[in-house]
Amino acid sequence: METRRFPMIEKQPEITALCPWCGQGKTFADKPADIRVSCQCPFCEKFYKIDFSTMRAIKIRPKPNSQK
Ligand SMILES: [Zn+2]
Repeated sequence: METRRFPMIEKQPEITALCPWCGQGKTFADKPADIRVSCQCPFCEKFYKIDFSTMRAIKIRPKPNSQK
């Protein structure tokens, strides 16, 4: 009996965008593209948007909680 092993492929993302708030959270992309991605930083839990065509990270302020 032999155990089949799948080849392990390691791929480095070509683009790394850092969180504009804390500089720790990272968002990866394979290649530049004309897309914008909104995400939440896992470190500071703030939101930001990355424009992968210009490689700019834009801070997003979530809607302020309405006073109740
Ligand atoms: Zn962050």
